[in-house]
Amino acid sequence: MLEKQLETPITILKKYYGYNSFRKNQLEIITAILNKTDTLCIMPTGGGKSVCYQVPAMLFEGITVVISPLISLMKDQVDTLNSIGVPAIYLNSTVSHADQGEIMNDIKHGSYKLVYVSPERLDSNQFLQFLQQLPIDLIAVDEAHCISQWGHDFRPSYARIGHLMQQLSSKPVIAAFTATATKTVAQDIKQGLMLQSPLDFVSGYERENLAFSVVKTGNKRKYILEFIERLKGESGIIYTATRKDVEELQPFLEKNGVQAVTYHGGMSEKIRNENQEKFIYDDEKIIIATNAFGMGIDKSNVRYVVHYQLPKSMEAYYQEAGRAGRDGENSECVLLYTSKDVQTQKYLIEQNASDLERKDHEYSKLQAMVDYCHTTKCLQTYIVNYFGDVAENDCSKCSNCKSDLEEIDVTTEALKIFSCIVRMKERFGVTLVAQVLKGSNNKRIKELRLNELKTYGIMKEKTEKEISELTQLFIAEGYLALTTGQYPTVRLTERAASVLKDGERVVQKVKPVKKEEPIHSELFEELRQLRKEIAEKEKLPPYIVFSDVTLKEMCKYY
Ligand code: ADP
Ligand code: MG
Ligand code: ZN
Repeated sequence: MLEKQLETPITILKKYYGYNSFRKNQLEIITAILNKTDTLCIMPTGGGKSVCYQVPAMLFEGITVVISPLISLMKDQVDTLNSIGVPAIYLNSTVSHADQGEIMNDIKHGSYKLVYVSPERLDSNQFLQFLQQLPIDLIAVDEAHCISQWGHDFRPSYARIGHLMQQLSSKPVIAAFTATATKTVAQDIKQGLMLQSPLDFVSGYERENLAFSVVKTGNKRKYILEFIERLKGESGIIYTATRKDVEELQPFLEKNGVQAVTYHGGMSEKIRNENQEKFIYDDEKIIIATNAFGMGIDKSNVRYVVHYQLPKSMEAYYQEAGRAGRDGENSECVLLYTSKDVQTQKYLIEQNASDLERKDHEYSKLQAMVDYCHTTKCLQTYIVNYFGDVAENDCSKCSNCKSDLEEIDVTTEALKIFSCIVRMKERFGVTLVAQVLKGSNNKRIKELRLNELKTYGIMKEKTEKEISELTQLFIAEGYLALTTGQYPTVRLTERAASVLKDGERVVQKVKPVKKEEPIHSELFEELRQLRKEIAEKEKLPPYIVFSDVTLKEMCKYY
């Protein structure tokens, strides 16, 4: 057994985990727990939450109960603990009745420091009576956002934990852990678990080693192939919105020489687990999966996470994308965006949301996700701000930081768009507004007599798509807002009003107007001649030497 007098958090960390120092907030959290203070710890995925309850567990005299939502997660953690010499065990539905009795007996006799249980276990009275007899020092609630209706993985049995824990005579300290919690969810966790004057620990949401990008492409498959080719041999996750996409993308990749395994809720548990293991142990480099994959997976060397469609919320996105680069090495998080995918998410909300309040909530979550795809500011900063934190600096490596966007004054464009929206009485969506500004000739516009508006056709020099994109950008930057619902209408916000009334300027980063670079035509002819001569002399077909296109490229730099 551990020699408690000599052990401190840092000696435990070194001896058992082989790490030299604590990461941000870890020691503070461990110290609070050891002082028997209830805590709520919000730390990004990969931040190192497990250590925060495992280290105290090893230092406490008694037992630590870890409540964890996923069977695979429990098994992984218990296996890891056992492999570093810490006595831990789990009790969940995979344990046979006979084994369970034996295990419970061993627990009573002090054979284990950590006991992992599923929240559903706590529903049984018999199990509660069993817990009553144990010297429990700490209850660690992992993935604690599952307690909140407003979190993204609500689990009804989590809601009962708080009440049950109150009944324990050993009066354990309770520590809750999650990667993503908005203010509401954090509040729900504290109330639901009945934390007593808890200490909050919120680690920064910044993940310096992650390079985020939003890619707007009409050909996602081609993009993925090129992307994988660039990161050949590296481990990556591709998330798709539906099982069908998983099933379709895999054979496509295979046909193009890229091997990948799949994972989704419709597959048999056996195959799913096999595929997961192959991926985790690096026998397979790529996994294509729905969001059913990944909670609690601790694979450190994932070099990229690609989202084939946009997820339903920033919470979901950051949790999934955050599975890249847990080892701290540079990694990429790419989101492939088309506006069509927004419709899919809306459809899902319409299908699944139980009531109006819920629907509104989900629409606004989705809108924040869409805004992420349209913003031109640093994506890392956007994420950090979304979770209510301030970013010190822009990341300098996301697709927005690295793009060739230029800051230009778009006040005129903004005024045109805003006034068109006002003239349309804020009753229509982005598409129709863009069509009016473009001066489109379609039936609907004529029927509604929108072609009689003063703003009809005042942006005809732009394409409808450019006007829509600008409008989306103004939404993302808070000048405009959309109503919730399947067919949202666009309206002005306070911020737009001050542009209209007070003449505030609107400066945005937008794509610069492309200037054709001049080609030195004499040089081009000269090189062309030279190419011919070389080809003749060496008896090579001309295209092997240099193509005209390459020559043109070269000429630009002279
Ligand atoms: P979380 O639950 O917050 O997503 P984990 O607890 O699974 O994260 O930890 C993520 C990874 O970071 C694991 O591989 C873990 O061993 C490692 N880790 C945790 N703490 C440290 C530390 N102080 N130094 C180095 N690596 C650490
Ligand atoms: Mg974890
Ligand atoms: Zn950036």
